Amino acid sequence: MSHWIALDIGGTTLRAACYPTDSLTPTCINKTPTQPAGPETLPRLIELARSVWPVGQAVAGIGVAAPGPVDPSAGVVLKAPSLPGWDNLPLRQILSEAFQTPVYVANDANVAALGEWVFGAGQGHQDLIYLTISTGIGGGVIANGQILLGANGLAGEMGHVTVLADGPVCSCGRRGHLEALASGPSIARWVEEQLQNGAKSNLPQGTQLSAWQIAAAANAGDSLAIAAFERAGAYLGAALAIFINILNPSAVILGGGVARSGELLLAPIRKVLKRQVYSHHFLDRLKLTSAALGDEAGLLGALALAQGLAEKSA
Ligand SMILES: [Zn+2]
Repeated sequence: MSHWIALDIGGTTLRAACYPTDSLTPTCINKTPTQPAGPETLPRLIELARSVWPVGQAVAGIGVAAPGPVDPSAGVVLKAPSLPGWDNLPLRQILSEAFQTPVYVANDANVAALGEWVFGAGQGHQDLIYLTISTGIGGGVIANGQILLGANGLAGEMGHVTVLADGPVCSCGRRGHLEALASGPSIARWVEEQLQNGAKSNLPQGTQLSAWQIAAAANAGDSLAIAAFERAGAYLGAALAIFINILNPSAVILGGGVARSGELLLAPIRKVLKRQVYSHHFLDRLKLTSAALGDEAGLLGALALAQGLAEKSA
């Protein structure tokens, strides 16, 4: 039996898994910290892939979820701000030379969208939007039953659309992007500012908060924490209303750590969508839901990427 290797290069964790054909249960799975400060991420990734390699078995291909903008046709990581030396890195070439097997590389958010579409909350949908909301906001689009890549393979950067002119500075340096208003650190920063300005809350002042902490406070009825999620949900809803007008999806799937807050975020999004989408017909059969795959979205997406592209090139 032949096997697939899936690699997920996360900001904090490198993951690798080996899947037998026709099974979503890995025969071997392993992870290690990314340690982005060191120059050794690439050899450690190769070592990690070796650690899950099936002994004496054939491998049909390797799928890779890679950070930052990626040229999927060349398999090149164009820019990875958190990984020194990874700008313009020909990752596909490096891995296929190391392992002598076909390698498929794509942007991690696009890969997670594929995973949710093929194996998760998006199964059966031909048009869907996937947003991952955690430290940053990324995304992927399935349109007419295909991943939307765009002319340079860069489509789906839905975290970097302007939703508040002259708003807070984004990680990319532009102002007012969705990521600067609704990512985990952005939600925390807003709450910290409100606390400094004297807002009433049970959350501690003068410490660095996490979105998870704020979600817990909101669930306990803290009005500032609830307002923080309503605000983030309103910006997400405004951006999604635009994407929905353009793409007319039948599913919108929210993944990433912040989306685990569930209804805290989904309720304000629904409210804004009703107000801002062009016609209620866009919402009639729309499923708005949290992602199903959790931490394994990257690995299962990388599996879907490798299997799908191998099928196409066969
Ligand atoms: Zn941005």
